[in-house]
Amino acid sequence: MTYDVAVIGAGVVGALTARELSKYELRICILEKGADVASGSSKANSAIVHAGYDPLPGTLKARFNVKGNEMFERLSQELEVPFKRIGSLVLAFNEADMEVLQKLYERGAENGVPGLEILRGYEDTARIEPNVSTDVAGALYAPSAAITCPYELTYAAVENAAANRAEIMLETEVAGISYEDDLFKITTSQGDISSRFIVNAAGVFSDNAAAMIGDNSFEIKPRKGEYLLLDKSQGDMARTIVFQTPSTTSKGILVTPTVDGNLLMGPTSTDTSDREDLSTAISELQKVINGALRSVPGINLKQVITSFTGLRATPDTSDFIVSPSPVNKKFIHAAGIESPGLTAAPAIAEYVAGLLKDAGLELVQRKDFNPVRKSIVRFNDASDGKKAELIGGNRQYGRVICRCELVTEAEIVEAIRRPAGARTVDAVKRRTRAGMGRCQGGFCAPRIVEILSRELGVPAESIRKTDGSSMLLTGRTKEAL
Ligand SMILES: Cc1cc2nc3c(=O)[nH]c(=O)nc-3n(C[C@H](O)[C@H](O)[C@H](O)COP(=O)(O)OP(=O)(O)OC[C@H]3O[C@@H](n4cnc5c(N)ncnc54)[C@H](O)[C@@H]3O)c2cc1C
Repeated sequence: MTYDVAVIGAGVVGALTARELSKYELRICILEKGADVASGSSKANSAIVHAGYDPLPGTLKARFNVKGNEMFERLSQELEVPFKRIGSLVLAFNEADMEVLQKLYERGAENGVPGLEILRGYEDTARIEPNVSTDVAGALYAPSAAITCPYELTYAAVENAAANRAEIMLETEVAGISYEDDLFKITTSQGDISSRFIVNAAGVFSDNAAAMIGDNSFEIKPRKGEYLLLDKSQGDMARTIVFQTPSTTSKGILVTPTVDGNLLMGPTSTDTSDREDLSTAISELQKVINGALRSVPGINLKQVITSFTGLRATPDTSDFIVSPSPVNKKFIHAAGIESPGLTAAPAIAEYVAGLLKDAGLELVQRKDFNPVRKSIVRFNDASDGKKAELIGGNRQYGRVICRCELVTEAEIVEAIRRPAGARTVDAVKRRTRAGMGRCQGGFCAPRIVEILSRELGVPAESIRKTDGSSMLLTGRTKEAL
């Protein structure tokens, strides 16, 4: 099979790039080594659509951040993905911090960030964020900052790309690439394919993908960020995204509501040499707690429901690498996309399409491109009348599987049956919220295994929590009988 473009990696950047390319008369495939889309940084981050005062003016980060932020509203409507423009605050606790805020304000103005304002003193800040610490000396207010759901955006983009004829191949790891007769031959764990162009959106592995064509022009140094997620009872402890003044390696510990009404705090920032290390450590989580309580002292820590880690794909170039490879101009890097990569992703996708065109790809607009993707109907959010209607039309809406989040069997079945549908318990969780509540799947996980087994026609023992060999069951206890 020969494709026009093969995209390596179904994170938010690869997914939105494939969706952007599906607007044109092209044969596109997305190659993803994970068992689900959003297997890398795109599944575990702060979910912030940044305003854009942080990146240095003139960098790709600055340019794509501000443009991406502008694009998010329409994109979220088209793909029916949650998006809330709640604004952000960067808190200052002393005069030195206030000077940092002034610099961020000026940088933001230069980057074209709209509506920035410096608030002076606790009272001004508390008018916007009532639970903020009384120690606050002031804040930078950015009304254009927003929150989204990064993994929902990613699989929504893949579903939409698939509806527009892109092909998604999960558990397909790119292992080698050669170039002959104007074609890339891509060796994957599922066999060989050919493509005229490649987009490298392989996240923390994007330098490895580059090295497959002999391009060693950059290196990725993974950096861990650990988080704590709190129950919805704490969701209104922050109305906005609350940052502290940033350091050179991170934007500091933030406190933010999520689009689902939980409270998120983190991340830490620690270099690691292991590109798969998603462990959490009590010492790091203590830093999260200390930082979060400094900003919002009233947070009830008894309401923590889980911890998790995300890995940043930090490049040694200090900016995003969105350019043709110096080795082959038909191999386009969308690499080293650390923060604000989620925000920047829509703008990166558009830019990558332009780079492919410059490299010789003909972009002929498809007349039947459909930009709209519908989300799974959430039973929990429906009115009583709508709930009755849903149950009347499909009895599986009458079977509640996840009691914490009120998720029904019908929603889980739909999540499995969609393009690039759920194959693992975590994939069901991310698509439906089954297992996201207080009990973290203690009650519903066995029932989700049963549904996955039935729908996929495979034994329950083969159903995995996530990638690799993360089986939940070891075998049947009464097999011998
Ligand atoms: C702690 C943390 C907090 C962040 N907070 C924010 C934020 O609030 N706002 C923001 O804008 N940005 C944020 N970011 C950045 C954002 O998450 C990333 O920029 C974005 O998710 C990068 O997407 P990606 O598609 O480039 O990479 P990924 O999501 O990592 O996707 C890469 C994909 O490639 C696949 N892959 C790798 N190698 C291969 C191979 N050989 N074959 C096939 N597939 C392969 C991987 O499995 C993976 O699914 C944060 C990041 C972290 C880690």
